[in-house]
Order: sequence, then structure tokens, then C-alpha cells
Amino acid sequence: MDFAATQEDEEFRLELQTWLDTNLPEFAAEGEIGDENNADRRIMLRRQAWQRRLHEGRWAAINWPKSWGGREATVSQNTIYAEVMARAKTPGIYNANGLWQIGPMILRWGTEAQQQQWLPGILNAEEHWCQGFTEPGAGSDLANLRTQAVSDGDDYVVNGRKIWISTAHLAKWGLFLVRTDPTAIDRGAKHEGITALIVDMELPGIEVTVIRDITGGELFCEVAFDDARVPKAYRLGEENEGWKVAMGTLGHERVGTAGLSVSMRIELDNLIATARVHNPDALNDPGIRDRIARLWTQLELTRLLNARALSKILKGQPNWPEVPLAKLQWSSLSQTIAELGVDILGPLGVLSRGGPDAVDKGHWGHNYVWQRYTSIGAGTTEVQKNIIADRAIKMPRR
Ligand SMILES: Cc1cc2nc3c(=O)[nH]c(=O)nc-3n(C[C@H](O)[C@H](O)[C@H](O)COP(=O)(O)OP(=O)(O)OC[C@H]3O[C@@H](n4cnc5c(N)ncnc54)[C@H](O)[C@@H]3O)c2cc1C
Repeated sequence: MDFAATQEDEEFRLELQTWLDTNLPEFAAEGEIGDENNADRRIMLRRQAWQRRLHEGRWAAINWPKSWGGREATVSQNTIYAEVMARAKTPGIYNANGLWQIGPMILRWGTEAQQQQWLPGILNAEEHWCQGFTEPGAGSDLANLRTQAVSDGDDYVVNGRKIWISTAHLAKWGLFLVRTDPTAIDRGAKHEGITALIVDMELPGIEVTVIRDITGGELFCEVAFDDARVPKAYRLGEENEGWKVAMGTLGHERVGTAGLSVSMRIELDNLIATARVHNPDALNDPGIRDRIARLWTQLELTRLLNARALSKILKGQPNWPEVPLAKLQWSSLSQTIAELGVDILGPLGVLSRGGPDAVDKGHWGHNYVWQRYTSIGAGTTEVQKNIIADRAIKMPRR
């Protein structure tokens, strides 16, 4: 492994840190912006303001071309960005889907007219975007998707149902995968016959229903299409070539695990600091001490795993199998920290958000249930393990 940063990388780090020192403080306090009575809306308004500020400093879309306000960042600069942002505990991004996944796909596959229509609104946080892939019968087996788009003049007529679509109720636009060739599934070629469509979420024939999640939050939705007419001019890439477009976006989702090992380490440090104040006796328990030490060691191993992946990319080698391993480490360790949180803090750890005695504004109780998503999102644990068993360990199939 080669950890040496180039002078260019060091300058990148310094420029970002200096910019954060000036611009972050006014966003650091939660709840200063927006609607007092609606927490979800308040969070989104804060994220919108933060993304606008990032964009002004050219720090919103670091991988985009310079002509589009980006920095054409290298892989190592992406790692530096993720680590510096995690250490600074910056707010979330309003349009994370748009900036990291959908925007790059529009840059890659979109026509000039499509780029002019959609990229400015993604960058300046004017319009929120969602990503509509999963269906009731197509999650891990995404290529089994059946929401149908039938050609009719200048439009596609879309019918079907998508599920677990994050923030679809807030989105003006969505990138959806639909089936344009229904014979492909019967032909045993289900990856063919899929098309990527950009959908105006306000079209007639689209119904978005919010699903309350395990934490009580309202993050994701069901999206039903009932004869919704989507202009063909909104197709991204060629008809029946949507799988290629989709694999591009999922590829972007898996970049950036480096910052997660830093965030998890910060979370563990915060937990120990909170325990020192609220339940210091727990830190003398040999079982708890053992769990903290094991966790700390695993976090350090994960940091080195990410460094090895980065080092391989820089040498032009495939970062395999580090990427699925890092995904598994993230899922398992974020759930381990969440469980440790409620165990260390005892009854105080499960007091819910908003209550007068809730420690850290109820973060630990909320985190305990919220972190379950890490073994489902961006590829479930079982599917990642199948991939490693099959392709890395080459275990025999039964
Ligand atoms: C917080 C959150 C946000 C999300 N946001 C979005 C979004 O914005 N857009 C979007 O399109 N989707 C989104 N999703 C959906 C997510 O992509 C799917 O939940 C995921 O792909 C799994 O699909 P599924 O839920 O249909 O589960 P399934 O694929 O049905 O899996 C159910 C169980 O079976 C296991 N399993 C499946 N196949 C195999 C196999 N071959 N071998 C062994 N075990 C297997 C899985 O590991 C899992 O435990 C989101 C999900 C979550 C939790």
C-alpha cells in the first residue's frame, strides 16, 4: 500500500478545510432554519441551504466537469473529501441522489438539451430528485422489474408500482427504470428490455404514498403509475439500454465507503464521551470494555481495507474484493455501534427523540432502529456474501 499524498492532494485538503472553517459554522447548529413544527421539512431546508453554499464554493459536485461547476476530482481526492466532511460533521446534502448518481448519468448518457434542462436544478438544489428502481418483485433481483412503458406516439404510457423510493414525495424529478420489452423476461434475458426514463413527479397518473419506517420517520414511498404519459424526450440513453445506465448509477453509490469508516470512528468516540457523562460505571464493565476494544480494532481494519482499495485503484488494479468487503464491514459495524450505544447508556439510551430527558436528543434510541437499513440498502448482506463466496472465494455451487 502507498499512503503518500501528492502535493496536489494536500492542496485540495487544505482548500476544503479552509473553506469549511469559514462556511460551516453557520450551518452547524441544528434547527436554525425553517419550519419549527415540521422536523422533516426543517432538515430538508437546512440541507438545501447547505448544498447551495457548497455549490457556490464549487464543493457540491466535485466529480463533475469543471465546465459544470465541478472539480474533476481524482479517486484520492474523493477519499480526502469524504474524510474531511465526516470529521467536520457537515449537514446532509439536499440532492445527494442527484449530485452523486443521477447527475453523472445525465452527463454520461444525456443529450445536450437534457443536460441543459436538468443539471442546473440538481446543482443549485432548486429541484429534488429521487431514484425509482425497486419494485415489490424486484429488489435484489432488480432485473426482474415489470413496471411497463408502452410506446404511444411521442410518449411512453407507464403502468406499474415502485416501492421503497426515498424522498419521492419531495421530488420534482425521478430517474426510473421501466420495462419496454416484456418478452425479455420470458426469453431468459431479463437485463435486456429495460429503459431509463426521467419522470416529472407531478404528472397526472402518478400517485406517491409515503411509507412510515421503523423509526417513525417518513423517508420512503410507494410510487404507483396509472397510464402516466412520459415524453420520449425524457428517455435517458437508448430504448432497452436502461441496464447500462442503471449500473452506472449503482457504481457511483458504491464509491465513497472511505468516509464511512471515519464517521463510524467519530460515532464510537461520541458514544464513549456521552457514556462518561451519563453512565460512567458502564465503562468499567469488562464485557463492555471488551466490546469497545473489538469494535475499535474492526474500525481500524476497515480503514486499512479502504486504504488498500484506494491504493489498488491508484495503481490501475481492480479494487476487488475490497469493495463488497467494505460494504459488509459498514453494515455490520454500524449496527454493532448502534447496539453498543443502547447497552452502554442503559434506560437513558432508549428514550425517544423530543423527550425532556433524552440523551443526545434521542440519537441512540433512534440510531438503534435506523441502522437496520445498512444491511439492506446498496446491496443486502446476503447478496454481498453470495458475491464474495462465488467470485472471490470461488466456493463450489450446490
Ligand atoms: C432506507 C432504504 C432506502 C431505500 N431507497 C431506495 C430508493 O431510493 N430507490 C430504490 O429504488 N430502492 C430503494 N430502497 C430499496 C432497496 O434497494 C431494496 O430494499 C433492496 O434492493 C432489497 O430489495 P428487497 O427489499 O426487495 O428485498 P429482497 O431482495 O426481496 O430480499 C429479501 C431478503 O432475501 C435475501 N435474498 C434476496 N436474494 C437472495 C439470494 N439470491 N440469496 C440469498 N439471500 C437473498 C435478502 O438478502 C433479504 O434478506 C431502499 C431501501 C431502504 C432500506
